[in-house]
Amino acid sequence: TLPVVAIVGRPNVGKSTLFNRLVGKKLALVDDRPGVTRDRREGDAHLLGVDFKVIDTAGFEDEDPQSLPGRMRAQTEAAVREADVALFLIDARAGLVPLDEEIGRWLRAEDTPVVLAVNKAEGRAGEQGAIEAMALGFGEPILLSAEHGEGVADLFTALLPYI
Ligand code: GDP
Ligand code: MG
Repeated sequence: TLPVVAIVGRPNVGKSTLFNRLVGKKLALVDDRPGVTRDRREGDAHLLGVDFKVIDTAGFEDEDPQSLPGRMRAQTEAAVREADVALFLIDARAGLVPLDEEIGRWLRAEDTPVVLAVNKAEGRAGEQGAIEAMALGFGEPILLSAEHGEGVADLFTALLPYI
């Protein structure tokens, strides 16, 4: 069985965009409106000779994305628990928001290793996003632009110990 990477994070950070880039097909719906990824999506990725499975999660999405109860959908919890590594995404342009911190606290309590990445980091947003992300306590984040395909090699290097 293939190693599993679960992409987690609050709505609109670019999880589905990254999923589509890693899997190489448009399997996940990308949308500006939070809450569009309703179901969990899985796909196979192949990066620099390594095959792994990617899960695009949506368990933190619902009508009120800033309230935690009800968002901890069983799907996302199960995905993170079965994963070899959780890829925790935040949004460089939006900066760190309370929901990111809550997800971070939840991830820290889980046994699955976490790789932190700051998406939408193209241009000047990246550096500021990286500085804010350090407050999550997962170390230095990977800078990514899922939309523009930047940072994928760094991401691969960070994931490699777990996949
Ligand atoms: P999800 O809710 O976390 O799955 O986020 P989506 O993948 O649906 O993306 C939400 C929005 O962010 C869409 O409008 C994407 O086009 C946009 N987006 C995703 N990745 C990037 C990126 O690297 N840079 C920028 N500027 N926008 C991005
Ligand atoms: Mg999505």
